[in-house]
Amino acid sequence: MTGELARAAIVSVGNELLFGETINTNAAWLGRALAEKGIVVSHGYTVGDNRTNIQEVVRTATRSTDVVLISGGLGPTEDDITRNAVADLFERPLRSNERLLADLKARFRAHGYREFPETNLSQVEVPEGAIVLNNPNGTAPGLAFEEDSTLVVMLPGVPRELHGIFLGDLNTLLEEWLGDRIAPVRHRMLHTTGVPESRLAEIIEDAINSDPAFVSTMKEVSIAYLPDLRGVDLRITARSASTEEAKASLDRAEEELDARIARWRYHATSGDIVEPVLEALKGLGLMLAVAESCTGGLIAKRLTDFPGASASFIGGVIAYDDSVKISALDVSQQDLSRFGAVSEVVAVQMALGASKRLGSDVGLAVTGVAGPGGGTKEKPVGRVCFAVVLNGKEKARSVDFLGDRDAVRERAAQVALAMLLRTL
Ligand code: ATP
Ligand code: MG
Repeated sequence: MTGELARAAIVSVGNELLFGETINTNAAWLGRALAEKGIVVSHGYTVGDNRTNIQEVVRTATRSTDVVLISGGLGPTEDDITRNAVADLFERPLRSNERLLADLKARFRAHGYREFPETNLSQVEVPEGAIVLNNPNGTAPGLAFEEDSTLVVMLPGVPRELHGIFLGDLNTLLEEWLGDRIAPVRHRMLHTTGVPESRLAEIIEDAINSDPAFVSTMKEVSIAYLPDLRGVDLRITARSASTEEAKASLDRAEEELDARIARWRYHATSGDIVEPVLEALKGLGLMLAVAESCTGGLIAKRLTDFPGASASFIGGVIAYDDSVKISALDVSQQDLSRFGAVSEVVAVQMALGASKRLGSDVGLAVTGVAGPGGGTKEKPVGRVCFAVVLNGKEKARSVDFLGDRDAVRERAAQVALAMLLRTL
């Protein structure tokens, strides 16, 4: 077992996953955890609580991979059939494990139960030759055995329990089992906002086509574009035996890319633009107040999601109705009638009003048509006006967003924060 990189399959068991009642977060979590360790996840399966189907999927999965991680159905109830199905498939009789039984009985006693419920006996049954993986967060342990040079692992479905086993005993087992077939993958995230994915790709393609130095740098890495409503993250991946080499490739790639995307880039460990916004405010010793119409408090929510926001954020006014724009933010009645609530003139007055009324150094305002109704020919659904005021200087802009109400609001909050960051 040397040379080739290890490949893994994830098998998720449970009817509720197929019906969409439970979102398969275990597969996502395991996929990420394995990728971070440098184990390629090549297959993923979801199967209902049906013995034959579980066996079929597990058999298929073991044929093409080195590790098969099965989650769900290890509990003590009738519908938990994974253990039996998998043990039978590989003709490994289940045996009651003395140590597990003693542990479980002690646990029940400690919780004040006299009797040990029969149904729980299944949880201490271990397929012949299997290793027991300690579950720090529950009673059903993980189980692992080798079958035809594939490591088959069964894990409980409860996410907390699955995480606990993976991060503990299973982590050690995978490292022992796979050895140098694990190649640590090194990622780096470059966050951008305000530029569509296609435009970013175009810029990078053009650079590759015209710049030989860039080409050779980019050969050492691969790029993934990860867009959402807030922006596009570029994930650069270097695959290299040594950490130093990988880091050097990532550094080179980042430098080359940065030169081309700096206009839209922001730096944040959390990935959220609020992080650099708060840092910038704090660094400059400025306090912020917001005035929100169509975002209805979304910006304030995002700011206050960060602990320590109080150092730079005073608060805000949700000025949804015109009457509040007038009474709480001193927006002029005449300008409201003349330019409309969705206008740069009103946005600026809202930002000024928030900053003056709440006593901040910086004011940020948003007013727009989130839809689905309320659009007109001159002001279509998706039109949003923004303003930032700082030290007597005013900046305003308007953007026409695409998308439904949620998308418009989410995008508007992001643009407002990005505009603020650039101003700072
Ligand atoms: P238990 O001992 O609780 O019965 P189990 O190993 O039998 O654990 P399941 O019965 O399959 O696991 O699932 C238990 C709970 O864990 C489910 O109700 C569900 O909320 C959650 N769960 C199961 N599978 C997944 C999954 N793939 N992703 C996210 N949550 C899951
Ligand atoms: Mg169960």
